[in-house]
Amino acid sequence: MFSETRISQFRDHTTPFYFYDLDVLKQTLQQIDKHGIRKGYHVHFALKANHQPRILEEIRKAGLGADCVSGGEVQRALDCGFEPHQIAFAGVGKRDSEINLGLEHDIFCFNCESVQELQVINELAEAKDCTARVALRINPNVDAKTHKYITTGLDENKFGINEEDLPLIFELLPTLKHIDLIGIHFHIGSQIEELKPFRELCDRANSLNQVFSDKGIQLKVINVGGGYGINYADPDGNAIPDFEHFFGLFDEHLNLRDDQELHFELGRSVTGQCGSLITEVLYTKHGRQKNFAIIDAGMTELIRPALYQAKHSIQLLTPISTETDTYDVVGPICESSDTFRTDLEFPKLERGNLLAIRSCGAYGEVMKSQYNLRQGIDSVFSVDLD
Ligand SMILES: *Cc1c(COP(=O)(O)O)cnc(C)c1O
Repeated sequence: MFSETRISQFRDHTTPFYFYDLDVLKQTLQQIDKHGIRKGYHVHFALKANHQPRILEEIRKAGLGADCVSGGEVQRALDCGFEPHQIAFAGVGKRDSEINLGLEHDIFCFNCESVQELQVINELAEAKDCTARVALRINPNVDAKTHKYITTGLDENKFGINEEDLPLIFELLPTLKHIDLIGIHFHIGSQIEELKPFRELCDRANSLNQVFSDKGIQLKVINVGGGYGINYADPDGNAIPDFEHFFGLFDEHLNLRDDQELHFELGRSVTGQCGSLITEVLYTKHGRQKNFAIIDAGMTELIRPALYQAKHSIQLLTPISTETDTYDVVGPICESSDTFRTDLEFPKLERGNLLAIRSCGAYGEVMKSQYNLRQGIDSVFSVDLD
């Protein structure tokens, strides 16, 4: 919850706006350091979750690298001070110009998602007379048991190389003179709250690691991706994900050789809980069947509820009424999917009430749009208010 002082500071800003609590971010990074980085694991932050320079600065200072999925993100990582050797570049559809940007900066690794991409990276590297470090993203066919739009490791998904393609790759590799195959990479999905899918991933990674070493290919990097979830229902009680058990699981179940490095690409679990969308109630409306609270933030500021049926915790900041009512909390956009919560039991709302939509630090601001020609939205950082 926010303090009285904080809430009165919010009143000085035009709503809606994103608020980032950098203390929460720092505490999260401390846990990642304690249970991951200090154990020798390499952790890259997935910039697609949040690319605010202020946030990236904290993340870089904590010793994480950058995991990028576009040339724009590679450039942002470089602009924010990440060293090229800390930058990985993933994605099923890398353009030639984006691959060239990575090659020009000699980034750490391309996570390659198809046989054809491997050949294209080889050609582009040859043209520049350089060598590209590459990890093969392999589709492990592990069910992440998460929303279907954020499941990425099943046979039906577009991501990664299937195991059936490996013989062809083993055959091609000696001819790809400008590829340095350094590892294998997996990413099974996002907002995975149970550890079981990660346990299955360990088994698949172990057996694939063996397949490569049987072929005489000594991989240096085993990259298990990201996907660890956060608690959207109780952001105050669970502000920081349980990284001890997350990293501990891989420690226990992944069989690495002494010369192998374990890499992670975390997004949501790093920044998710540090961000809130602060918004004001514009109108309350009593329909035939429902009460609506119409707020000044919409799917243009936070699309997760519309896109993934995501449920964010919503808190009333001022003033708290003792009476309650049931509301559909909706935005102003001309789409019925522009709904944050339905049938939410809530203190009675009035025009002008301030609300906080919590757990918005990942896949929130980065997905904003100008649909309905909406105006831009500000970002406010706790350090500027303290
Ligand atoms: C999105 C993504 C991540 C980060 O996922 P989170 O669920 O935010 O941890 C990591 N790796 C790849 C390849 C991704 O596409």
